[in-house]
Amino acid sequence: MADSCALTELEQCRRCPRLVRYLAELPPKGGRSRSEYWNAPVPAFGSPSARVWLLGLAPGAHGANRTGRPFTGDGAGDFMYPLLHRAGFCSQAEAVDAADGMVLQDLYISNAVRCVPPQNKPTASEFAACRPFLAQEWQQLSRLKVVLALGRDAFISFLHFLKGQGLIERLADYPFAHGVRYPLPGGRWLVGCYHTSRYNVQTGRITAELFLEVLRQVDALRNEEAAP
Ligand code: SF4
Repeated sequence: MADSCALTELEQCRRCPRLVRYLAELPPKGGRSRSEYWNAPVPAFGSPSARVWLLGLAPGAHGANRTGRPFTGDGAGDFMYPLLHRAGFCSQAEAVDAADGMVLQDLYISNAVRCVPPQNKPTASEFAACRPFLAQEWQQLSRLKVVLALGRDAFISFLHFLKGQGLIERLADYPFAHGVRYPLPGGRWLVGCYHTSRYNVQTGRITAELFLEVLRQVDALRNEEAAP
């Protein structure tokens, strides 16, 4: 995260006891040792001057939780980054680790929950505990035009955030679907997209073409002029 105070607060955050315990116990994979893992809240990736904010669910146990960078080092990122590169949102197709030279272009990536949860399933209270970081980002991203929420859970957590801020009235007015888009206050947009998880890729729920179509929509929305 670009703001140093926010980074310190995130690094020190222990608001979710279940996730803190899980981080302390998570066994490494692939012949790696625990010392090769990040095993801490994973900060956002990208510049706060970006106009597009991609919001995932939570760090992958052996991806972002290992490398310390969202969607880096696991199947979800291996699917996503080459497509982001094709669409012009990042400097290279391959995301290997936090030192691979990847630069995001007009894109900022973070997760609704910053610590890896067991079975990729945060509880309602863990979503709520992590929502103050969404509020910080909403403030910091001064040029923000589009929030691209990956998966229903991140989408709904973001709606809870908007409702808590008084920016929307009813979650039921914003049903999740792939490719759905809703105008938000301030000329911003919320776009829904199936998550790029390995499971969704393997089952064909998300395909390269489906993801690229959403990115084309995001590209058009970020360049849209605000209504007078
Ligand atoms: S998930 Fe978020 S709120 Fe919970 S301990 Fe991690 S950083 Fe803190």
